[in-house]
Amino acid sequence: MYGKIKDDLQGELASLRAAGLYKEERVIESPQGAKIQVGGKSVLNFCANNYLGLSNHPKVIEGARAALDEWGYGLSSVRFICGTQRLHKELEEKVSQFLGTEDTILYAACFDANGGVFEPFLDKECALLTDSLNHASIIDGVRLCKAKRFIVQHGDMQDLEQKLQDPDARSARYRMFCTDGVFSMDGDIAKLPEICALATKHDSLVVIDDCHATGFLGKTGRGTHEYRDVMGQIDLITTTFGKALGGASGGCTSGRKELIEWLRQKSRPYLFSNTLAPAIAGATLAAIDLLSESTELRDRLESSMLYFRKNMTDAGFDITPGEHPIVPIMFGKFENDAKLAQDFARDLLDEGIYVIGFSFPVVPRGQARIRVQISAAHEQEHLDRAIEAFTKIGKKHSVLS
Ligand SMILES: *Cc1c(COP(=O)(O)O)cnc(C)c1O
Repeated sequence: MYGKIKDDLQGELASLRAAGLYKEERVIESPQGAKIQVGGKSVLNFCANNYLGLSNHPKVIEGARAALDEWGYGLSSVRFICGTQRLHKELEEKVSQFLGTEDTILYAACFDANGGVFEPFLDKECALLTDSLNHASIIDGVRLCKAKRFIVQHGDMQDLEQKLQDPDARSARYRMFCTDGVFSMDGDIAKLPEICALATKHDSLVVIDDCHATGFLGKTGRGTHEYRDVMGQIDLITTTFGKALGGASGGCTSGRKELIEWLRQKSRPYLFSNTLAPAIAGATLAAIDLLSESTELRDRLESSMLYFRKNMTDAGFDITPGEHPIVPIMFGKFENDAKLAQDFARDLLDEGIYVIGFSFPVVPRGQARIRVQISAAHEQEHLDRAIEAFTKIGKKHSVLS
């Protein structure tokens, strides 16, 4: 009987709206890119995960189209029944080559990869350690697994070692530590050499989620393990094809041979959800080919990111230092930072710059920010227009003197 819950939800939805926490979907009237059409207006987009500009790249589209023509639209099956084409095997091989791993298993999304990566390995005799700022999909994956849980304070190596030494962790059959490679709200990068050293010392597996790194971080874009120079030391990498690698959907878990083989037998989102669409497999193959041939796109992204960070810092903005195209512009030192971040983002949209303000509960109280994401698709002139608009609105709100 649809009655009580309807009234309750209407009340709850109204209070979300009143608290300014109601999420509206902004409708984009063009393909994804540096320049998009929003509300009948052309704006520069600084809030997509389109790090390499591949979301609408001709070669990626061609890869999708060719796969559609050759392999059809869909397979109406999970992988192990009749949902594996040669294309899927090729993509798994190509991803393993690119990431420098032994084997790879595809999922419909990285959300699924993370949902199915812990439970097959860890039961209640095991210990699962997880960084406190890990992505929601890791949190859900942890919930699905019966291992003893240890929440490690974000990026805190002392706390990680303490938790590894906890009697309940030490007596566990297996220990596994999971961290985002790059954390999406700050753009900070996991300290993998320290993590790997502790994992060796205390006999723990290491899993990283590299969604915000695959394709561009590290000198040839392999990800956080390349950036931190620990290739070959990470046991499992989960990542997405829905960000830098073309941005449609799909994801994978990549790593040690036996671990991947076991996932093919036991991982529930793989066993009980449909195969990746051929067009997406074809497009992802094309994206990885593009990045394997040349580092031009990740090089351009890196220099644009450094240029933007330097000029925004010189202009007087409070930028968390770093080397990632996620550039958080912090408003925490101002009064009513949450409202300021919202107003600032709205004024920037009027100036033709599309960015999003984040505040509590998405980020901690007093740490409201605008998260800018740089893309290789941005031209010099786009970066300059953004810096100019930030400076103008910064003065309007007395964020800059
Ligand atoms: C985006 C993201 C995911 C989810 O990826 P999908 O392929 O879109 O499901 C998982 N983990 C992290 C860290 C992400 O940023």
